[in-house]
Amino acid sequence: MVIILSIHQAAGTHIIHDEQKRRSMEFRDLGEQYKRNQRSIDAAIKRSVSSGRYIGGPEVRELEEALASYVGVEHCVTCANGTDALQLALMTWGIGPGDAVFVPDFTFFSSGEVVSAIGATPIFVDIDPRTFNIDPSSLEAAITYVMKETKLSAQAVIPVDLYGLPADYPALQDICKRFDLLMLEDAAQGFGSAIGKDKAGAFGDIGATSFFPAKPLGCYGDGGAVFTDDDEWAALLRSFAVHGKGSEKYDNVRIGMNSRLDTIQAAVLSAKLPVFMSHELDAVDQIAKLYSHGLQDIAKKTGILLPFIPDGYSSAWAQYTIQLPETLDQDAVQRTLAERDIPTMVYYPKPMHEQTAFEGRCLCPSGCPVTSRLCQTVLSLPMGPYMTESDVERVCAELQAAIANS
Ligand SMILES: *Cc1c(COP(=O)(O)O)cnc(C)c1O
Repeated sequence: MVIILSIHQAAGTHIIHDEQKRRSMEFRDLGEQYKRNQRSIDAAIKRSVSSGRYIGGPEVRELEEALASYVGVEHCVTCANGTDALQLALMTWGIGPGDAVFVPDFTFFSSGEVVSAIGATPIFVDIDPRTFNIDPSSLEAAITYVMKETKLSAQAVIPVDLYGLPADYPALQDICKRFDLLMLEDAAQGFGSAIGKDKAGAFGDIGATSFFPAKPLGCYGDGGAVFTDDDEWAALLRSFAVHGKGSEKYDNVRIGMNSRLDTIQAAVLSAKLPVFMSHELDAVDQIAKLYSHGLQDIAKKTGILLPFIPDGYSSAWAQYTIQLPETLDQDAVQRTLAERDIPTMVYYPKPMHEQTAFEGRCLCPSGCPVTSRLCQTVLSLPMGPYMTESDVERVCAELQAAIANS
C-alpha cells in the first residue's frame, strides 16, 4: 500500500483517487462523515468550549427545540444516552416491581435491561420475520398469557424500530388501547424514519432515542433524548434526569439519576442535524436501493432475503441486514467477507431471553422461535450515507463470491 502510494505521488492528482479506492472499507464510515462536515462541526465544538458552559446552557435548549420540532412532539428532554432515555420514561410512569413490560426478543440488550433495572419483569415477545420488529399477534398472545397465568400487572410495551424501520405502530397502538398499556418507543435505531409523515420518536406515549456515534444521528460520545407530548411527563423526565430535582437545584423531591447531555455533544448534534435532515437520510436510502438492486439476482439464486420496507414506511437504515438461508454457515460467510476486507456484523447473535442476565427474571411465553432462527441467519452489511456506488458494488460482488464458496 505504502509503495503503491509513493509510486503514484509522481502522478499528482491520482493519489487521492487511488487512496480512496484502496482505503479499507468501514462498517459505518464516521471518519468520512466528519471530513465532509468538518468546518461546521469544528466551529460548533469551538464555540461550545469557549462559551465556558459545559453542562446545560442555551446549546442544549436550542437542540431540544430543534429535535422536538423535527420529530413533531411538544417536548424533547435530552439525557446522557439512549439506555437512560428508556429508563427515565419507565421511572416517569412509576413502573416497578410486580409490573410486566413487553419487549421484542430480538433487540439490543438495553431495551430489556432498563425493565429489570427498575425492578419490573421483561416479557419477551417474538418478531415478524420480514420486518424484524415486534409481531403484533405474538404481543397480544403474550399480554393474554401474563393477564391469565401470572400475578404480574401488564403495564407497558417497548416496540423497537430495529435497523431503522418503524415497528407496526397502527397495530401496536390498537393493542395498547385495548389492553390499556403505555407505549414506549425505542427509536435508538429509528431516528429519522417515518410512517407517512409521522416520524419515529413520536409513535409512543413516550419515545426514546440514542445519539451513540454509530446511530443514524450520532454525537462524539454518548447522548440520548426522550420525546413526549405530555407536559406533566416532560417535567417529570427533567426532574428524574437531574437527581429528582424539585423546583430548585438543591431541593430533591424524588430519587432520580444524573443523566444530562453534555453541552459539547449538543453542539456536535446541532451541527450534524441539518446535514442529517437535508442530505444523509436521502443518501443512505439511495445506498439501500443500490444494495437491493445489486443483490436482486443473488437473492433469487441463493435464497438470501433482502430488507423489506412496508408501503408508506421509510427506514433510517441504521443497518442494512440480509438473512442468509439456513443452509449457509453465518460464521463462515462472515469470515470469508472479513478476509476480503468487507466488515459485517451479526445484530444480534443471542435472543434476549437467553441472556444470562435475565435468567430467572424474565418471561418468554412463546419461546420466540423466529428470533432464535434469525440470530443464526442475519448479517448486516457496511452501511452509511457516505458509501459510494463502487463500495456497494464491491460488497455485492464479494458477498456473491462468499456465498458461492460456502
Ligand atoms: C443503541 C441502542 C440503545 C441504547 O442506546 P445507548 O445510547 O447506547 O445507551 C437502546 N436500544 C436500542 C435498540 C439500541 O440500538
